[in-house]
Amino acid sequence: MFEKILIANRGEIALRVIRACQEMGIKSVAVHSTADADAMHVRMADESVCIGPAPSSESYLNKAAIISACEITGAQAVHPGYGFLSENASFAQALQDHGLTFIGPNAQHIRIMGDKITAKETAKELGIPVVPGSDGGVPDFETAIGVAQSIGFPVIIKATAGGGGRGMKVAKTPEELEVAFRTARSEAKAAFGNDEVYIEKYLQRPRHIEIQVFGDGKGKAVHLGERDCSLQRRHQKVFEEAPGPAITPEMRARIGKVCADAVAKINYIGAGTIEFLYEDGEFYFIEMNTRLQVEHPVTEYIFGVDLVREQIRVAAGMEMSFGQDDLVINGHAIEVRINAERLPNFSPCPGKVKMFHAPGGFGVRMDSALYSGYSIPPYYDSLIGKLIVHGRDRPEALARLRRALGELIVDGVDTTVPLFHALLAEPDVLSGDYNIHWLEKWLAAKFGQA
Ligand code: ADP
Repeated sequence: MFEKILIANRGEIALRVIRACQEMGIKSVAVHSTADADAMHVRMADESVCIGPAPSSESYLNKAAIISACEITGAQAVHPGYGFLSENASFAQALQDHGLTFIGPNAQHIRIMGDKITAKETAKELGIPVVPGSDGGVPDFETAIGVAQSIGFPVIIKATAGGGGRGMKVAKTPEELEVAFRTARSEAKAAFGNDEVYIEKYLQRPRHIEIQVFGDGKGKAVHLGERDCSLQRRHQKVFEEAPGPAITPEMRARIGKVCADAVAKINYIGAGTIEFLYEDGEFYFIEMNTRLQVEHPVTEYIFGVDLVREQIRVAAGMEMSFGQDDLVINGHAIEVRINAERLPNFSPCPGKVKMFHAPGGFGVRMDSALYSGYSIPPYYDSLIGKLIVHGRDRPEALARLRRALGELIVDGVDTTVPLFHALLAEPDVLSGDYNIHWLEKWLAAKFGQA
């Protein structure tokens, strides 16, 4: 087992990894930008190294500085968290070249899944059902219109190099397609430095269902059921739950096995998430994330496993500590993402937190790097905490979420907490009857915006 792990991240996810290290008797090294000198992850780790100025391009994305920090501190492995370098194949490769372990999949798997067209082709070859659409990239408008007519309108144009919900355009008619195709390409070029786009059928009212998988890198893999992350704003998740209210045990077993078999076949190592759109009983692959997800705690709650601990174990060459038959669902879990944002426009709201009080009690988990007196820097994403609750069933989890939200105090900055209070009064949310468009429609009706 490793003696020392460096965490190439910040905020709540850095704390999440440090906590796992502490429980496993592993020393932890925090890295931080100058803007994060007072951050909680720096305080909680055994050691810390400043790796650069505030902009993440010069600090949390600075591969050379992170590798130097490993050398200075003697860290043997790097946990990347999510975001930043977590899906950067050349970083994984660079670590390996320096004799360090990347706690995540190998560079080749990251590369395959990071390119959306290759990912989709690979998924198809591995027997995973995909959304109907173009065979690979679409070079010109003539090809685009041909594809759209064969799969039928509406269609969605996506950037091959896209991510984070950016670079997507919907077209309902050939006229709209002409404009959408051109703008999607130029936007993709500007945002990702690659103008390749592809086309898919646009599903009208799907749910976002993702399957958690885990592999040992030696041909053994399991699935840990699904998470329903359909409540989204601008393709960004805000509320996630497991198990999915629309998924039956039979469906879970079927799609779960397809996913576990697929990752076993490629000797995938560590945690991964295969994302689907789900409509009328069918699953359609959209992408695979080769890292730990923000919403992983809902899965941990219902299966009683520590996914970060497991990532560290398999990265160190150990066996997985559970098999498929050990994974039995217990109850229901919900996560809400608390962002420092001002409603109704969700504009970022960094600043000084005068007082922070985390909710507690039975079945409540608050993953946050806030503390009273902390100043949220303006340079990074606005997620300041995740509130996760567990109950014996969905109604109990909802009641616990309402109670816990009432206890939470974040004084000094605006947060998305009022959004969740409002959502918990909505019959559709209470009954689990929503799809990926529900939240945008609700926001438009309530605040006259999307
Ligand atoms: P990203 O990598 O940018 O997150 P995804 O391919 O995962 O992009 O898609 C993000 C979200 O966009 C999905 O959760 C869904 O809300 C929407 N979306 C993607 N593909 C489709 C589609 N074919 N039809 C309808 N909505 C889609």
